[in-house]
Amino acid sequence: MIDTGHENLHLQSESGDLSSENTKLRSELAAAQQRLAQLEQKLSFQPQSGLPTHFRLELELEEFVERFGRRQDDGSANLPGFTVLILQLGSTYGMVRKTLRASISEWILYQTGCRIAAFLSGRDRVFHTREDEFVLLLPGKKGSHLKEFLQKLHTSLAVPHGFTGFSVSVGVTSGASYFPEHGLNRSDLLHHADLAAGAAKDRHKPFVLFRQSIREIAVERMELQNSILKAIEAPALHQLGEQFRLLYQPKLVVSSFDEGKLHISKIGAEALMRWNHPSKGLISPAQFIPIAEESGLIEPLGKWLVYTCASLLEAWTTTGYGDIGLSVNLSPRQFRSSSILQTFESALSSSGSGLNRLTVELTETSLFEDIESTTRILERFAALGLRISVDDFGSGYSSLSHLHRFPLDEIKVDRLFVEHIRTNKHDRVIVGSLVHMAKDLGFDLIVEGVEDAESLAILYDMGCRGYQGFVLSEALSEEEFLRFHDDIVANDMVVQLPLALTHQS
Ligand code: C2E
Ligand code: CA
Ligand code: CA
Repeated sequence: MIDTGHENLHLQSESGDLSSENTKLRSELAAAQQRLAQLEQKLSFQPQSGLPTHFRLELELEEFVERFGRRQDDGSANLPGFTVLILQLGSTYGMVRKTLRASISEWILYQTGCRIAAFLSGRDRVFHTREDEFVLLLPGKKGSHLKEFLQKLHTSLAVPHGFTGFSVSVGVTSGASYFPEHGLNRSDLLHHADLAAGAAKDRHKPFVLFRQSIREIAVERMELQNSILKAIEAPALHQLGEQFRLLYQPKLVVSSFDEGKLHISKIGAEALMRWNHPSKGLISPAQFIPIAEESGLIEPLGKWLVYTCASLLEAWTTTGYGDIGLSVNLSPRQFRSSSILQTFESALSSSGSGLNRLTVELTETSLFEDIESTTRILERFAALGLRISVDDFGSGYSSLSHLHRFPLDEIKVDRLFVEHIRTNKHDRVIVGSLVHMAKDLGFDLIVEGVEDAESLAILYDMGCRGYQGFVLSEALSEEEFLRFHDDIVANDMVVQLPLALTHQS
Protein backbone atom coordinates (compact mmCIF):
# COMPACT_ATOMS: atom_id res chain seq x y z
CA MET A 1 0.00 0.00 0.00
CA ILE A 2 1.23 3.46 -0.78
CA ASP A 3 0.75 6.05 1.94
CA THR A 4 -0.60 9.08 0.15
CA GLY A 5 -0.85 11.26 3.23
CA HIS A 6 -4.41 11.87 2.00
CA GLU A 7 -5.89 12.74 5.42
CA ASN A 8 -3.22 15.28 6.22
CA LEU A 9 -3.45 17.04 2.93
CA HIS A 10 -7.17 17.23 3.17
CA LEU A 11 -6.99 19.05 6.54
CA GLN A 12 -4.28 21.45 5.42
CA SER A 13 -6.24 22.44 2.36
CA GLU A 14 -9.39 23.37 4.24
CA SER A 15 -8.61 27.08 3.96
CA GLY A 16 -7.12 26.83 0.47
CA ASP A 17 -8.37 25.67 -2.86
CA LEU A 18 -9.68 22.19 -2.18
CA SER A 19 -10.18 21.12 -5.75
CA SER A 20 -6.67 22.12 -6.89
CA GLU A 21 -5.18 20.18 -3.97
CA ASN A 22 -7.25 17.19 -4.98
CA THR A 23 -6.03 17.37 -8.56
CA LYS A 24 -2.44 17.59 -7.39
CA LEU A 25 -2.98 14.66 -5.11
CA ARG A 26 -4.52 12.58 -7.86
CA SER A 27 -1.64 13.24 -10.21
CA GLU A 28 0.89 12.39 -7.48
CA LEU A 29 -0.98 9.19 -6.84
CA ALA A 30 -1.01 8.34 -10.55
CA ALA A 31 2.74 9.01 -10.81
CA ALA A 32 3.44 6.80 -7.80
CA GLN A 33 1.31 4.04 -9.27
CA GLN A 34 3.13 4.33 -12.57
CA ARG A 35 6.50 4.09 -10.82
CA LEU A 36 5.24 1.03 -8.94
CA ALA A 37 4.07 -0.58 -12.17
CA GLN A 38 7.45 0.14 -13.77
CA LEU A 39 9.22 -1.36 -10.80
CA GLU A 40 7.02 -4.42 -10.91
CA GLN A 41 7.68 -4.76 -14.64
CA LYS A 42 11.40 -4.47 -14.00
CA LEU A 43 11.29 -7.04 -11.25
CA SER A 44 9.08 -9.35 -13.27
CA PHE A 45 11.05 -9.65 -16.49
CA GLN A 46 14.72 -10.36 -17.20
CA PRO A 47 15.99 -7.73 -19.62
CA GLN A 48 18.24 -10.15 -21.59
CA SER A 49 15.74 -12.91 -22.25
CA GLY A 50 12.47 -11.05 -21.75
CA LEU A 51 11.30 -13.97 -19.61
CA PRO A 52 9.58 -13.67 -16.22
CA THR A 53 11.93 -13.67 -13.23
CA HIS A 54 12.17 -15.28 -9.84
CA PHE A 55 9.71 -12.73 -8.56
CA ARG A 56 7.03 -14.10 -10.93
CA LEU A 57 8.08 -17.70 -10.30
CA GLU A 58 7.36 -17.38 -6.58
CA LEU A 59 3.86 -16.07 -7.27
CA GLU A 60 3.01 -18.55 -10.00
CA LEU A 61 4.46 -21.54 -8.18
CA GLU A 62 2.30 -20.63 -5.22
CA GLU A 63 -0.72 -20.62 -7.55
CA PHE A 64 0.30 -23.97 -9.04
CA VAL A 65 0.58 -25.51 -5.57
CA GLU A 66 -2.82 -24.17 -4.61
CA ARG A 67 -4.52 -25.26 -7.83
CA PHE A 68 -3.01 -28.73 -8.01
CA GLY A 69 -3.37 -29.18 -4.22
CA ARG A 70 -7.10 -28.49 -4.50
CA ARG A 71 -7.46 -31.10 -7.20
CA GLN A 72 -5.61 -33.64 -5.12
CA ASP A 73 -7.94 -32.86 -2.17
CA ASP A 74 -11.05 -33.22 -4.34
CA GLY A 75 -9.79 -36.52 -5.62
CA SER A 76 -11.86 -35.36 -8.58
CA ALA A 77 -9.31 -36.49 -11.08
CA ASN A 78 -6.35 -38.76 -11.05
CA LEU A 79 -4.00 -35.90 -11.90
CA PRO A 80 -0.29 -36.41 -12.21
CA GLY A 81 0.61 -33.09 -10.52
CA PHE A 82 3.50 -31.06 -11.97
CA THR A 83 7.29 -30.88 -12.21
CA VAL A 84 9.64 -28.11 -11.14
CA LEU A 85 12.68 -28.26 -13.42
CA ILE A 86 15.82 -26.18 -12.81
CA LEU A 87 18.21 -25.73 -15.75
CA GLN A 88 21.69 -24.35 -15.10
CA LEU A 89 24.14 -23.21 -17.73
CA GLY A 90 27.62 -24.78 -17.54
CA SER A 91 30.89 -23.04 -16.70
CA THR A 92 31.51 -22.10 -20.35
CA TYR A 93 28.80 -19.46 -19.99
CA GLY A 94 30.67 -17.89 -17.04
CA MET A 95 33.88 -17.87 -19.06
CA VAL A 96 32.20 -16.25 -22.06
CA ARG A 97 30.71 -13.64 -19.79
CA LYS A 98 34.04 -12.79 -18.22
CA THR A 99 36.12 -12.81 -21.37
CA LEU A 100 33.94 -11.78 -24.31
CA ARG A 101 31.74 -8.80 -25.11
CA ALA A 102 28.55 -8.43 -23.04
CA SER A 103 26.45 -8.59 -26.21
CA ILE A 104 27.66 -12.18 -26.79
CA SER A 105 26.59 -13.49 -23.38
CA GLU A 106 23.31 -11.57 -23.69
CA TRP A 107 22.66 -13.19 -27.05
CA ILE A 108 23.34 -16.64 -25.59
CA LEU A 109 20.81 -15.97 -22.82
CA TYR A 110 18.25 -14.72 -25.28
CA GLN A 111 18.80 -17.74 -27.55
CA THR A 112 18.60 -20.13 -24.61
CA GLY A 113 15.30 -18.58 -23.52
CA CYS A 114 13.91 -18.90 -27.08
CA ARG A 115 15.04 -22.51 -27.42
CA ILE A 116 13.38 -23.45 -24.13
CA ALA A 117 10.19 -21.58 -25.00
CA ALA A 118 9.99 -23.46 -28.31
CA PHE A 119 9.49 -26.71 -26.39
CA LEU A 120 6.76 -25.51 -24.09
CA SER A 121 3.16 -26.39 -24.57
CA GLY A 122 -0.20 -25.77 -22.91
CA ARG A 123 0.25 -24.48 -19.42
CA ASP A 124 4.02 -25.01 -19.18
CA ARG A 125 5.82 -21.98 -17.78
CA VAL A 126 9.45 -20.80 -18.00
CA PHE A 127 11.23 -18.28 -15.77
CA HIS A 128 14.70 -16.78 -15.98
CA THR A 129 15.58 -16.75 -12.30
CA ARG A 130 19.32 -16.06 -12.14
CA GLU A 131 21.65 -15.05 -14.88
CA ASP A 132 22.67 -18.67 -15.57
CA GLU A 133 19.49 -20.38 -14.40
CA PHE A 134 16.06 -21.08 -15.85
CA VAL A 135 13.16 -22.70 -13.99
CA LEU A 136 10.31 -24.52 -15.72
CA LEU A 137 6.93 -25.52 -14.30
CA LEU A 138 5.61 -28.48 -16.26
CA PRO A 139 2.12 -29.72 -15.49
CA GLY A 140 1.76 -33.46 -16.03
CA LYS A 141 5.33 -34.03 -17.29
CA LYS A 142 6.83 -36.79 -15.20
CA GLY A 143 8.62 -40.11 -15.74
CA SER A 144 8.90 -41.09 -19.39
CA HIS A 145 7.17 -37.86 -20.53
CA LEU A 146 9.76 -35.79 -18.74
CA LYS A 147 12.59 -37.95 -20.05
CA GLU A 148 11.43 -37.51 -23.62
CA PHE A 149 11.01 -33.76 -23.11
CA LEU A 150 14.50 -33.45 -21.56
CA GLN A 151 16.15 -35.39 -24.34
CA LYS A 152 14.78 -33.00 -26.94
CA LEU A 153 15.47 -29.92 -24.83
CA HIS A 154 19.07 -30.88 -24.00
CA THR A 155 19.74 -31.68 -27.67
CA SER A 156 18.44 -28.29 -28.72
CA LEU A 157 20.38 -26.43 -26.01
CA ALA A 158 23.61 -28.23 -26.97
CA VAL A 159 23.57 -26.76 -30.49
CA PRO A 160 26.44 -24.21 -30.65
CA HIS A 161 25.56 -20.51 -30.70
CA GLY A 162 27.02 -19.08 -33.90
CA PHE A 163 28.82 -15.73 -34.10
CA THR A 164 30.86 -14.21 -36.86
CA GLY A 165 34.02 -16.27 -37.06
CA PHE A 166 33.38 -18.53 -34.06
CA SER A 167 30.75 -20.50 -32.18
CA VAL A 168 30.18 -21.33 -28.52
CA SER A 169 28.49 -24.40 -27.04
CA VAL A 170 27.19 -23.99 -23.55
CA GLY A 171 26.51 -27.18 -21.57
CA VAL A 172 23.40 -27.42 -19.43
CA THR A 173 22.63 -29.53 -16.35
CA SER A 174 19.22 -29.92 -14.81
CA GLY A 175 17.45 -31.19 -11.73
CA ALA A 176 13.77 -31.66 -10.92
CA SER A 177 11.27 -32.23 -8.14
CA TYR A 178 7.67 -33.45 -8.45
CA PHE A 179 4.53 -32.09 -6.87
CA PRO A 180 3.20 -33.70 -4.69
CA GLU A 181 5.79 -36.50 -4.28
CA HIS A 182 8.79 -34.31 -3.37
CA GLY A 183 7.12 -31.38 -1.68
CA LEU A 184 3.73 -29.84 -1.00
CA ASN A 185 4.80 -26.24 -0.86
CA ARG A 186 6.76 -23.74 -2.92
CA SER A 187 9.92 -23.67 -0.84
CA ASP A 188 10.32 -27.47 -0.54
CA LEU A 189 9.74 -27.95 -4.27
CA LEU A 190 12.32 -25.32 -5.20
CA HIS A 191 14.82 -26.44 -2.59
CA HIS A 192 14.58 -30.08 -3.69
CA ALA A 193 14.86 -29.26 -7.40
CA ASP A 194 17.88 -27.10 -6.55
CA LEU A 195 19.53 -29.96 -4.62
CA ALA A 196 18.90 -32.27 -7.59
CA ALA A 197 20.43 -29.70 -9.99
CA GLY A 198 23.45 -29.40 -7.68
CA ALA A 199 23.81 -33.20 -7.64
CA ALA A 200 23.71 -33.25 -11.47
CA LYS A 201 26.53 -30.70 -11.60
CA ASP A 202 28.63 -32.58 -9.01
CA ARG A 203 28.21 -35.89 -10.81
CA HIS A 204 28.65 -34.43 -14.30
CA LYS A 205 25.26 -35.78 -15.32
CA PRO A 206 22.84 -33.94 -17.60
CA PHE A 207 19.85 -34.59 -15.32
CA VAL A 208 19.08 -35.78 -11.79
CA LEU A 209 15.62 -36.27 -10.29
CA PHE A 210 15.29 -35.45 -6.61
CA ARG A 211 15.55 -38.37 -4.19
CA GLN A 212 15.54 -38.38 -0.41
CA SER A 213 19.16 -39.64 -0.40
CA ILE A 214 20.27 -36.43 -2.17
CA ARG A 215 18.87 -34.44 0.72
CA GLU A 216 20.62 -36.69 3.21
CA ILE A 217 23.96 -36.20 1.45
CA ALA A 218 23.44 -32.42 1.45
CA VAL A 219 22.60 -32.45 5.17
CA GLU A 220 25.67 -34.58 5.87
CA ARG A 221 27.85 -32.11 3.92
CA MET A 222 26.41 -29.24 5.88
CA GLU A 223 27.06 -31.02 9.17
CA LEU A 224 30.65 -31.71 8.16
CA GLN A 225 31.10 -28.10 7.10
CA ASN A 226 29.82 -26.90 10.47
CA SER A 227 32.15 -29.28 12.27
CA ILE A 228 35.11 -28.05 10.23
CA LEU A 229 34.14 -24.54 11.21
CA LYS A 230 34.05 -25.50 14.85
CA ALA A 231 37.38 -27.31 14.62
CA ILE A 232 38.99 -24.36 12.89
CA GLU A 233 37.48 -21.61 15.00
CA ALA A 234 40.00 -22.70 17.63
CA PRO A 235 42.16 -19.64 18.32
CA ALA A 236 45.57 -21.06 17.56
CA LEU A 237 46.58 -23.02 14.51
CA HIS A 238 48.31 -25.68 16.54
CA GLN A 239 44.95 -26.58 18.08
CA LEU A 240 43.94 -27.92 14.69
CA GLY A 241 46.28 -30.76 15.55
CA GLU A 242 43.70 -31.94 18.06
CA GLN A 243 41.39 -33.05 15.26
CA PHE A 244 43.53 -33.10 12.14
CA ARG A 245 46.61 -35.23 11.81
CA LEU A 246 49.03 -36.30 9.15
CA LEU A 247 50.03 -39.75 8.01
CA TYR A 248 53.15 -40.37 5.95
CA GLN A 249 53.20 -42.66 2.94
CA PRO A 250 56.71 -43.70 1.87
CA LYS A 251 57.93 -42.54 -1.55
CA LEU A 252 61.00 -44.55 -2.56
CA VAL A 253 63.62 -44.15 -5.28
CA VAL A 254 65.19 -47.40 -6.36
CA SER A 255 68.63 -47.97 -7.90
CA SER A 256 68.21 -51.62 -8.83
CA PHE A 257 65.71 -54.45 -8.63
CA ASP A 258 66.82 -58.03 -8.56
CA GLU A 259 65.18 -61.26 -7.38
CA GLY A 260 62.49 -59.34 -5.52
CA LYS A 261 65.15 -57.17 -3.82
CA LEU A 262 64.76 -53.46 -4.21
CA HIS A 263 67.90 -51.44 -3.60
CA ILE A 264 66.77 -48.10 -2.23
CA SER A 265 68.65 -44.91 -2.96
CA LYS A 266 66.27 -42.36 -1.46
CA ILE A 267 63.52 -42.47 1.16
CA GLY A 268 60.87 -39.79 1.26
CA ALA A 269 57.25 -39.47 2.33
CA GLU A 270 54.02 -37.82 1.29
CA ALA A 271 52.00 -36.22 4.09
CA LEU A 272 48.34 -37.25 3.83
CA MET A 273 45.79 -35.53 5.99
CA ARG A 274 43.26 -37.29 8.19
CA TRP A 275 40.44 -35.74 10.12
CA ASN A 276 39.66 -37.38 13.40
CA HIS A 277 36.09 -36.18 13.85
CA PRO A 278 34.93 -36.14 17.49
CA SER A 279 31.86 -38.28 16.76
CA LYS A 280 32.24 -39.60 13.19
CA GLY A 281 35.76 -40.99 13.60
CA LEU A 282 38.41 -40.87 10.87
CA ILE A 283 37.28 -39.04 7.72
CA SER A 284 39.27 -39.29 4.49
CA PRO A 285 40.58 -36.20 2.72
CA ALA A 286 38.63 -37.18 -0.41
CA GLN A 287 35.53 -36.38 1.66
CA PHE A 288 36.56 -33.28 3.59
CA ILE A 289 38.97 -31.46 1.25
CA PRO A 290 36.23 -30.54 -1.31
CA ILE A 291 34.02 -29.21 1.49
CA ALA A 292 36.89 -27.25 3.03
CA GLU A 293 37.65 -25.87 -0.47
CA GLU A 294 34.09 -24.70 -1.00
CA SER A 295 33.89 -22.90 2.30
CA GLY A 296 37.36 -21.33 2.18
CA LEU A 297 38.34 -23.22 5.31
CA ILE A 298 41.05 -24.90 3.32
CA GLU A 299 43.31 -21.89 3.93
CA PRO A 300 43.85 -22.29 7.69
CA LEU A 301 44.14 -26.05 7.11
CA GLY A 302 46.88 -25.43 4.55
CA LYS A 303 48.73 -23.15 6.97
CA TRP A 304 48.58 -25.78 9.65
CA LEU A 305 49.87 -28.37 7.16
CA VAL A 306 52.82 -26.25 6.03
CA TYR A 307 53.84 -25.28 9.59
CA THR A 308 53.52 -28.87 10.80
CA CYS A 309 55.68 -30.22 7.96
CA ALA A 310 58.31 -27.48 8.27
CA SER A 311 58.71 -28.14 11.98
CA LEU A 312 58.77 -31.90 11.35
CA LEU A 313 61.62 -31.48 8.87
CA GLU A 314 63.50 -29.41 11.42
CA ALA A 315 62.93 -32.03 14.14
CA TRP A 316 64.10 -34.79 11.79
CA THR A 317 67.26 -32.83 11.01
CA THR A 318 68.18 -32.66 14.68
CA THR A 319 67.41 -36.35 15.29
CA GLY A 320 69.50 -37.68 12.41
CA TYR A 321 66.77 -37.97 9.75
CA GLY A 322 67.94 -34.98 7.77
CA ASP A 323 67.97 -36.85 4.48
CA ILE A 324 64.23 -37.53 4.36
CA GLY A 325 62.22 -35.45 1.90
CA LEU A 326 58.58 -34.62 2.55
CA SER A 327 55.78 -33.88 0.08
CA VAL A 328 52.63 -31.93 0.79
CA ASN A 329 49.45 -31.64 -1.29
CA LEU A 330 47.98 -28.29 -2.17
CA SER A 331 44.43 -28.07 -3.49
CA PRO A 332 43.78 -25.69 -6.43
CA ARG A 333 42.38 -23.04 -4.15
CA GLN A 334 45.31 -23.26 -1.74
CA PHE A 335 47.73 -23.03 -4.62
CA ARG A 336 46.13 -19.83 -5.91
CA SER A 337 45.55 -18.21 -2.53
CA SER A 338 47.43 -14.97 -2.03
CA SER A 339 48.71 -16.02 1.40
CA ILE A 340 50.35 -19.32 0.49
CA LEU A 341 53.75 -17.87 -0.43
CA GLN A 342 53.92 -15.93 2.79
CA THR A 343 53.00 -19.09 4.71
CA PHE A 344 55.93 -20.95 3.16
CA GLU A 345 58.26 -18.00 3.77
CA SER A 346 57.41 -17.66 7.44
CA ALA A 347 57.38 -21.43 7.98
CA LEU A 348 60.85 -21.49 6.48
CA SER A 349 62.15 -18.68 8.66
CA SER A 350 60.54 -19.95 11.87
CA SER A 351 61.67 -23.54 11.47
CA GLY A 352 65.09 -22.72 10.06
CA SER A 353 65.03 -25.88 7.96
CA GLY A 354 65.67 -25.88 4.27
CA LEU A 355 62.58 -25.93 2.12
CA ASN A 356 64.48 -27.84 -0.53
CA ARG A 357 63.44 -30.99 1.28
CA LEU A 358 59.82 -29.97 0.91
CA THR A 359 57.98 -30.88 -2.29
CA VAL A 360 54.66 -29.34 -3.22
CA GLU A 361 52.30 -31.66 -5.08
CA LEU A 362 49.86 -29.89 -7.38
CA THR A 363 47.36 -31.63 -9.58
CA GLU A 364 47.67 -31.35 -13.31
CA THR A 365 44.25 -29.72 -13.60
CA SER A 366 45.08 -26.99 -11.12
CA LEU A 367 48.29 -26.15 -13.02
CA PHE A 368 46.69 -25.81 -16.41
CA GLU A 369 43.78 -23.68 -15.29
CA ASP A 370 45.58 -20.42 -16.04
CA ILE A 371 48.99 -20.99 -17.52
CA GLU A 372 50.35 -17.49 -17.07
CA SER A 373 49.49 -17.08 -13.41
CA THR A 374 50.60 -20.68 -12.76
CA THR A 375 54.03 -19.89 -14.19
CA ARG A 376 54.33 -16.79 -12.00
CA ILE A 377 53.35 -18.65 -8.80
CA LEU A 378 55.58 -21.62 -9.57
CA GLU A 379 58.57 -19.40 -10.23
CA ARG A 380 58.13 -17.85 -6.81
CA PHE A 381 57.82 -21.31 -5.21
CA ALA A 382 61.01 -22.38 -6.97
CA ALA A 383 62.79 -19.20 -5.82
CA LEU A 384 62.01 -20.22 -2.23
CA GLY A 385 63.72 -23.54 -2.88
CA LEU A 386 60.57 -25.67 -2.89
CA ARG A 387 60.47 -28.69 -5.17
CA ILE A 388 57.42 -28.87 -7.42
CA SER A 389 55.60 -32.05 -8.39
CA VAL A 390 52.68 -32.62 -10.76
CA ASP A 391 50.25 -34.99 -9.06
CA ASP A 392 47.83 -37.33 -10.84
CA PHE A 393 49.62 -36.69 -14.12
CA GLY A 394 47.77 -38.03 -17.15
CA SER A 395 44.33 -37.77 -15.57
CA GLY A 396 43.64 -34.33 -17.06
CA TYR A 397 43.78 -33.24 -20.64
CA SER A 398 46.85 -31.08 -20.49
CA SER A 399 49.28 -31.04 -23.29
CA LEU A 400 52.71 -32.46 -22.57
CA SER A 401 54.26 -29.68 -24.57
CA HIS A 402 53.21 -27.15 -21.93
CA LEU A 403 55.16 -28.85 -19.18
CA HIS A 404 58.52 -27.41 -20.14
CA ARG A 405 57.19 -23.90 -19.41
CA PHE A 406 56.95 -24.64 -15.70
CA PRO A 407 59.88 -25.00 -13.28
CA LEU A 408 58.97 -28.59 -12.34
CA ASP A 409 61.01 -31.21 -10.51
CA GLU A 410 58.78 -34.25 -10.46
CA ILE A 411 55.89 -35.96 -12.18
CA LYS A 412 53.62 -38.44 -10.45
CA VAL A 413 51.94 -40.75 -12.91
CA ASP A 414 48.27 -41.15 -12.06
CA ARG A 415 47.23 -44.35 -10.32
CA LEU A 416 44.75 -45.08 -13.14
CA PHE A 417 47.59 -45.98 -15.55
CA VAL A 418 49.28 -48.22 -13.00
CA GLU A 419 46.21 -50.13 -11.88
CA HIS A 420 46.02 -52.39 -14.97
CA ILE A 421 49.62 -52.16 -16.14
CA ARG A 422 49.96 -55.97 -16.13
CA THR A 423 47.14 -56.49 -18.60
CA ASN A 424 46.60 -53.23 -20.44
CA LYS A 425 48.98 -52.64 -23.32
CA HIS A 426 47.61 -49.16 -23.88
CA ASP A 427 48.55 -48.11 -20.31
CA ARG A 428 52.04 -49.54 -20.84
CA VAL A 429 52.51 -47.43 -23.96
CA ILE A 430 51.42 -44.29 -22.11
CA VAL A 431 53.61 -44.90 -19.07
CA GLY A 432 56.53 -45.79 -21.36
CA SER A 433 56.26 -42.50 -23.19
CA LEU A 434 55.93 -40.57 -19.90
CA VAL A 435 59.17 -42.19 -18.69
CA HIS A 436 60.98 -41.02 -21.81
CA MET A 437 59.48 -37.56 -21.67
CA ALA A 438 60.42 -37.12 -17.98
CA LYS A 439 63.97 -38.19 -18.77
CA ASP A 440 64.21 -35.76 -21.70
CA LEU A 441 62.84 -32.87 -19.69
CA GLY A 442 64.93 -33.71 -16.62
CA PHE A 443 62.03 -34.45 -14.24
CA ASP A 444 62.00 -37.17 -11.58
CA LEU A 445 59.18 -39.62 -12.16
CA ILE A 446 57.15 -41.37 -9.48
CA VAL A 447 54.52 -44.00 -10.19
CA GLU A 448 51.84 -44.05 -7.54
CA GLY A 449 49.33 -46.68 -6.55
CA VAL A 450 51.66 -49.65 -7.19
CA GLU A 451 49.90 -52.47 -5.42
CA ASP A 452 51.84 -55.65 -6.32
CA ALA A 453 55.34 -56.82 -7.08
CA GLU A 454 54.52 -57.91 -10.62
CA SER A 455 53.37 -54.42 -11.58
CA LEU A 456 56.48 -52.96 -9.98
CA ALA A 457 58.67 -55.31 -12.02
CA ILE A 458 56.94 -54.28 -15.25
CA LEU A 459 57.34 -50.62 -14.35
CA TYR A 460 61.00 -51.14 -13.46
CA ASP A 461 61.62 -52.69 -16.87
CA MET A 462 60.01 -49.65 -18.45
CA GLY A 463 62.54 -47.41 -16.73
CA CYS A 464 60.55 -46.23 -13.69
CA ARG A 465 62.67 -45.69 -10.58
CA GLY A 466 60.38 -43.81 -8.15
CA TYR A 467 57.54 -45.71 -6.47
CA GLN A 468 54.73 -45.21 -4.04
CA GLY A 469 51.94 -47.64 -3.25
CA PHE A 470 50.57 -50.34 -1.04
CA VAL A 471 53.17 -52.86 -2.30
CA LEU A 472 55.78 -50.83 -0.37
CA SER A 473 53.65 -49.35 2.37
CA GLU A 474 50.38 -47.63 3.14
CA ALA A 475 50.34 -44.26 4.92
CA LEU A 476 51.92 -44.55 8.40
CA SER A 477 52.04 -42.56 11.62
CA GLU A 478 55.29 -40.61 12.12
CA GLU A 479 56.57 -43.24 14.53
CA GLU A 480 55.77 -46.11 12.14
CA PHE A 481 57.31 -44.25 9.22
CA LEU A 482 60.59 -43.67 11.05
CA ARG A 483 60.65 -47.37 11.99
CA PHE A 484 60.04 -48.22 8.31
CA HIS A 485 63.01 -45.96 7.44
CA ASP A 486 65.25 -47.49 10.14
CA ASP A 487 64.43 -51.03 9.00
CA ILE A 488 65.54 -50.22 5.44
CA VAL A 489 68.78 -48.62 6.67
CA ALA A 490 69.43 -51.61 8.95
CA ASN A 491 68.85 -53.93 5.99
CA ASP A 492 71.58 -52.28 3.87
CA MET A 493 69.00 -50.20 2.00
CA VAL A 494 67.24 -53.28 0.67
CA VAL A 495 63.50 -53.90 0.64
CA GLN A 496 62.47 -57.47 0.00
CA LEU A 497 59.12 -57.50 -1.78
CA PRO A 498 56.48 -59.83 -0.34
CA LEU A 499 56.55 -61.90 -3.50
CA ALA A 500 60.01 -63.36 -4.15
CA LEU A 501 59.65 -62.54 -7.78
CA THR A 502 62.55 -63.18 -10.07
CA HIS A 503 63.14 -60.20 -12.23
CA GLN A 504 64.10 -60.87 -15.79
CA SER A 505 65.65 -57.97 -17.52
P1 C2E B 1 46.78 -38.18 -3.70
O1 C2E B 1 47.66 -37.02 -3.50
O2 C2E B 1 46.76 -38.77 -5.09
O3 C2E B 1 47.23 -39.23 -2.61
C1 C2E B 1 47.32 -40.58 -2.83
C2 C2E B 1 46.10 -41.29 -2.33
O4 C2E B 1 46.14 -42.64 -2.82
C3 C2E B 1 46.06 -41.41 -0.81
O5 C2E B 1 44.69 -41.43 -0.41
C4 C2E B 1 46.70 -42.77 -0.57
O6 C2E B 1 46.35 -43.36 0.65
C5 C2E B 1 46.17 -43.55 -1.74
N1 C2E B 1 47.06 -44.64 -2.12
C6 C2E B 1 48.39 -44.71 -1.93
N2 C2E B 1 48.90 -45.84 -2.42
C7 C2E B 1 47.87 -46.52 -2.98
C8 C2E B 1 47.76 -47.79 -3.66
O7 C2E B 1 48.72 -48.54 -3.87
N3 C2E B 1 46.52 -48.14 -4.10
C9 C2E B 1 45.42 -47.37 -3.88
N4 C2E B 1 44.25 -47.81 -4.32
N5 C2E B 1 45.50 -46.18 -3.24
C10 C2E B 1 46.70 -45.75 -2.79
P2 C2E B 1 44.16 -40.42 0.66
O8 C2E B 1 45.13 -40.30 1.78
O9 C2E B 1 42.77 -40.83 0.95
O10 C2E B 1 44.18 -39.04 -0.10
C11 C2E B 1 43.28 -38.76 -1.12
C12 C2E B 1 43.57 -37.42 -1.74
O11 C2E B 1 43.29 -36.36 -0.81
C13 C2E B 1 45.03 -37.23 -2.09
O12 C2E B 1 45.28 -37.85 -3.30
C14 C2E B 1 45.16 -35.73 -2.12
O13 C2E B 1 44.74 -35.23 -3.38
C15 C2E B 1 44.16 -35.27 -1.07
N6 C2E B 1 44.89 -34.89 0.14
C16 C2E B 1 45.44 -35.69 1.09
N7 C2E B 1 46.03 -34.96 2.05
C17 C2E B 1 45.90 -33.66 1.69
C18 C2E B 1 46.32 -32.40 2.25
O14 C2E B 1 46.99 -32.33 3.28
N8 C2E B 1 45.96 -31.26 1.58
C19 C2E B 1 45.26 -31.30 0.42
N9 C2E B 1 44.96 -30.15 -0.17
N10 C2E B 1 44.86 -32.45 -0.14
C20 C2E B 1 45.18 -33.62 0.48
CA1 CA C 1 49.50 -36.35 -3.81
CA1 CA D 1 48.07 -38.65 -6.75
